[in-house]
Amino acid sequence: MELTTEQKDICKAAREFAEKEFRDRAKDFDAKEEFDLSIVKRAAENGFIGVFIKEDYGGAGLGFLEHSLITEEVWRVDPGCGQNICSAGFGAEMIQTFGTEEQKQFYLPKIASGEAIIGTAITEPDAGSDVTLVKTRAEKKGDTYVINGSKMFITNGCNAKYLLVYAVTDPEAKDVHKRCSVILLDTATPGFTATKIYGKMGIRASNTAEVSFDNVEVPAENLVGKEGRGFYQLMEFFNMTRNHVAAQGVGVAQGALEMAISHVKKRKAFGGSLSRLQGVQFKIAEMATRIEAARSLYWRAAYLLDNGKLDPALVSMAKWFSGETAVYVANEALQLHGGYGYIVEYDIQRFYRDAKIVEIYEGSKEVEKAVIASELLKRVF
Ligand SMILES: Cc1cc2nc3c(=O)[nH]c(=O)nc-3n(C[C@H](O)[C@H](O)[C@H](O)COP(=O)(O)OP(=O)(O)OC[C@H]3O[C@@H](n4cnc5c(N)ncnc54)[C@H](O)[C@@H]3O)c2cc1C
Repeated sequence: MELTTEQKDICKAAREFAEKEFRDRAKDFDAKEEFDLSIVKRAAENGFIGVFIKEDYGGAGLGFLEHSLITEEVWRVDPGCGQNICSAGFGAEMIQTFGTEEQKQFYLPKIASGEAIIGTAITEPDAGSDVTLVKTRAEKKGDTYVINGSKMFITNGCNAKYLLVYAVTDPEAKDVHKRCSVILLDTATPGFTATKIYGKMGIRASNTAEVSFDNVEVPAENLVGKEGRGFYQLMEFFNMTRNHVAAQGVGVAQGALEMAISHVKKRKAFGGSLSRLQGVQFKIAEMATRIEAARSLYWRAAYLLDNGKLDPALVSMAKWFSGETAVYVANEALQLHGGYGYIVEYDIQRFYRDAKIVEIYEGSKEVEKAVIASELLKRVF
């Protein structure tokens, strides 16, 4: 599989954008746990946000592969900053797939242009991997939903203009998979609050928040998809979004590998550069091979998705394997830096901290393995 000329140009443009906009500022953003959101606006102006949004709704009309390629490039330069770019449209997939024509016309152009950041709020203090445990309630009263509850670890919780809220609409439904729905919230609505979570281990330039809803009234027309179908919509949504999380893992691993190669070529020991030692070369070879394998997985999973042949097992393989690759490569790359790698001045320690998140969010590696196994066990060989 080879990228088209257009796809290669997109990668090059995204890389150049990231190098120019945040390569030199990333350390400071990480230390201060903040980001300059004007960079997100410029990313949108350059066409890097929500490229999968159809042209009719203000997007580039490209695919999830292109979205993932951009993600890999921005994460390669810096994962925390890159996350601000690639998460700004986290939720547009749901609106484009399940939203009404009016919702698509209203929200998607705002997301693609960078006018509005969107986030998706599923996780709660007591409900993570098992989303059937969510308690946030959206009670239908006349032509509104009244939302009460709280959500945990929400990316862009403090920056988002809109949030997709996964909430219980039918607590009595016997089938737990039919209790929830997805509701679009304008975060300016009274009763909504977002509290920034400080002290994350990695991707510290990315905003993460605890959000709460105190009698938040939302028009009933803000239901996305069908009432009671939230769980099923969510599973389809993850099949779209997990590809780009896989690309995050490849990006952080690629960035770490490049730092390691640059360091071992310069560092002298035992009569020459470290790169002359076979033990060091083996490490480089193993890191590069795993990265290439992880990249091939997400390319193929995204290609199939874009061509109407979604393979959920392959998506989960890509997500799980790229997370493991990210953690493995960042660890080995830091090792090759020796003591310097342990010091804040060196970027590799930040990548080491950043890599871990890929194994945790949007389906932990254990959840991905469960998806892979359940898909395979359904198949007849
Ligand atoms: C920086 C950051 C950003 C995030 N952004 C968002 C966001 O934007 N929106 C959102 O909704 N959520 C977000 N999350 C939440 C994230 O998706 C959850 O943390 C993740 O899904 C895991 O849920 P949990 O933390 O409740 O862990 P738990 O579900 O409690 O799991 C704990 C451990 O048990 C394992 N485990 C659970 N079930 C099984 C099983 N069946 N078999 C084997 N092992 C199992 C898990 O794999 C994990 O290792 C974010 C989290 C972080 C840290």
